[in-house]
Amino acid sequence: MAFVFDLPSIPATRIAGSDARFAVHRIYCIGRNYAEHAREMGAQAVSRDHPVFFMKPADAIVPEGGEIPYPSATRELHHEVEMVVALSGGGRDIAPARALDCVFGYGVGLDLTRRDLQAAMKAKGLPWDVAKGFDGSAPVSVLRAATEIGHPQHARLSLEVNGEVRQDADIADMIFAVPELIAELSKLFELKAGDLIFTGTPAGVGPLERGDTFRASLQGIAELAGRVT
Ligand code: MN
Repeated sequence: MAFVFDLPSIPATRIAGSDARFAVHRIYCIGRNYAEHAREMGAQAVSRDHPVFFMKPADAIVPEGGEIPYPSATRELHHEVEMVVALSGGGRDIAPARALDCVFGYGVGLDLTRRDLQAAMKAKGLPWDVAKGFDGSAPVSVLRAATEIGHPQHARLSLEVNGEVRQDADIADMIFAVPELIAELSKLFELKAGDLIFTGTPAGVGPLERGDTFRASLQGIAELAGRVT
């Protein structure tokens, strides 16, 4: 088949202990998945009936972090450290009991956010895309296969900026745990191998400035480091 221009390269990230790469199909994100973060964002009670989902383009990933360009059109770039779930299978209307069968593995990532634009869009009732889906908005670590590490129920999720702890929580505090998250998403989208799910951030989000260094950790599973340029 001929195409009118060269095909873009496939966004992909490394897998620990493997030469094969994880090709990214879609990036799904959930908002308000930790009660304390929902509160710090001014949300009232979090409804378990209506999880807040949004997406980023697959090529927004920055594999293994490194140099992260400060994005255009914002004066308030915020960090959100999150556990990332990588899928090797999918489908529609997946039951929570079989959701983990779809999981390839786990990593840690940053859901980088233009917070000023998000606040402006929220105030007008407009979509968040420009706040969340910009180029380089999804730094993600090397992935760890579930065949190697299992499916973590507890793990410390933390972020240091310039050596100072900004976010620190346990993934057990998620409102929607991974099986429920996959089940809920699959009611809305047909999930596929290659999908990444950013599982929400705990409290402590805040600004990243040019020159800041960061180190994200999902303890015992993945690390991600970089610098805003
Ligand atoms: Mn987030």
